[in-house]
Amino acid sequence: MEILELIAYGLFLPVFGPETIPSLTSSCCSLSVWNKSEIELLFYMSKAKVKKEQLTCSCCKGEIYDSNLSRTLGRKVWLWGTMKILERVDLKKGRFQWACDECLNSGKALIGKPESQLYCDFDPYLVYIDMEKVCEKCDQDYLFRKEEQKYWYETLQFWVQSKPKHCSKCRHEIREERELNNELAALLKEKEKLTVQDMERLSKIYDDIKKPDKSKYYKNLVEKSKHKIAS
Ligand SMILES: [Zn+2]
Ligand SMILES: [Zn+2]
Repeated sequence: MEILELIAYGLFLPVFGPETIPSLTSSCCSLSVWNKSEIELLFYMSKAKVKKEQLTCSCCKGEIYDSNLSRTLGRKVWLWGTMKILERVDLKKGRFQWACDECLNSGKALIGKPESQLYCDFDPYLVYIDMEKVCEKCDQDYLFRKEEQKYWYETLQFWVQSKPKHCSKCRHEIREERELNNELAALLKEKEKLTVQDMERLSKIYDDIKKPDKSKYYKNLVEKSKHKIAS
């Protein structure tokens, strides 16, 4: 097989099929017309090659045809300081998290905007997908939901590689505990100037953070103070 024929096959075979090639090669390059089985074999080889190159959706893990990538291929994204038009090769490198049209349209995946994300050594998210995680505090499985991720990376602007360590319930508890501890520290700063209301609050805080002895201590102080005021 001559080199020009090979080029013609490489260019036209996957697109037009085997029937077009004999006339094309013979009219353009004055080459011999190939026999049918030879052409069919090459056609199926080229089809097999196309199949092998199918991309795998980060969300459904399915093999995806380009026709199912209308919301991804050709999409303009601001990446590393330049406007980029997403091409097949960008997805093929396996660097980005992306999703097929079906996953995007069904809401299984949520579009991410790299221009709103904070990234440097790690790649930004083209889409967000629910992430399964285990909480380091309560050991329960939980979902780091795609909507939460978008808020986390685009509104709060956490680095793209950072992930939550705790489930939302534990995160809420930890935040609340921290706030109570701050309030406690502020109240105890000037112990000698504590009012009855301050002592009531201290008793309540110690009760909330499960320190019953200290809670009781301030409750007694409150009682004593009230008694003193009354007499
Ligand atoms: Zn998919
Ligand atoms: Zn938890």
